[in-house]
Amino acid sequence: MAARWIDGKALAAGILERVRLQRTALGARPLRLVSVYVGDDVSSAVYIRNQKRACERMEIRFDLEHLPATTTEEQLVEHLHALNHDDGVTGIILQRPLPPGMRQIRLQAKIHPDKDVEGLNPANIGSIVYGLPKLVPCTALAAVRCLKSTGVPLRGADVVMIGHSEVVGKPVAFLMLNEFATCTVCHIATQDLARKTRQADVIFTAVGKPGLLTGDMVKPGAVVIDIGIRQVPQLARDGTPLRGEDGQPLLRLSGDADFDSVAAVAGWVTPVPGGVGPVTVAMLIHNTIVAARLQQGLPIESALS
Ligand code: NAD
Repeated sequence: MAARWIDGKALAAGILERVRLQRTALGARPLRLVSVYVGDDVSSAVYIRNQKRACERMEIRFDLEHLPATTTEEQLVEHLHALNHDDGVTGIILQRPLPPGMRQIRLQAKIHPDKDVEGLNPANIGSIVYGLPKLVPCTALAAVRCLKSTGVPLRGADVVMIGHSEVVGKPVAFLMLNEFATCTVCHIATQDLARKTRQADVIFTAVGKPGLLTGDMVKPGAVVIDIGIRQVPQLARDGTPLRGEDGQPLLRLSGDADFDSVAAVAGWVTPVPGGVGPVTVAMLIHNTIVAARLQQGLPIESALS
């Protein structure tokens, strides 16, 4: 069986189209996202660039505020406090990683829940647990949106979520419970992962280990949503690494799935790149509209219905 591809770019375009209508319904009031980035770690540079591009396309102002690595946690709390009270700010993003020693969870909790467009404030995580999601972590939302695009029935389905982070694995698991699926969450200490994945109608994987999920671990016809992202060397046919003109190894993005063997067995699969990634950025824009509506006391629309 050759799996059907879930086209993340097309899905993202559809989400943005719907969001555009909701944006128009909000009136002329400008929307503004502020992305706070502390220190010198550049690993989130690509993500920031994609966020900025998507905002510009939707006429949402995007401001990157770079604070020096010497910023103290209390100074950052003050900064977030000021953004919370600024009526001109629709949403706040706290870029990760934060400098060593800064307490991520404490800081995330300092962002007002209605401005928390990344959905990581404990109040927003709690809303998912209660089955009343408002602002949901963008990647978890994107992964479930990719699954829902297949139309595969979820009530009673067996789901395996590989990875148990607060950003992806845990929220996906609760979103699956909200659909009446039976979800098994696996992680680094899980024994015999393959025995669990072989039972699953749906497999999400968010680990960052290329080749973790192979075709022999997948039930024929299952849906595989690959959230992992890792840069790996590009190889020539004989297996030797390819190099650019500058002699540096050429890199490509890989997910957790061994794509060819998984696609030969699965019913549906997300490619990497071009799967969950573009949908994640679209969900940030969706969340910005949700934030604006929450701040105006308006009803919100789910990205999953
Ligand atoms: P994380 O790095 O915080 O945690 C990794 C998880 O994988 C943990 O639950 C760990 O227990 C589990 N794990 C590690 N080795 C394992 C193994 N051998 N078997 C089973 N489980 C194992 O996770 P994260 O922040 O959720 O990121 C996971 C991946 O998703 C990364 O590759 C990251 O780049 C990617 N990601 C993608 C997007 C996107 O938009 N597509 C967004 C966020 C993260």
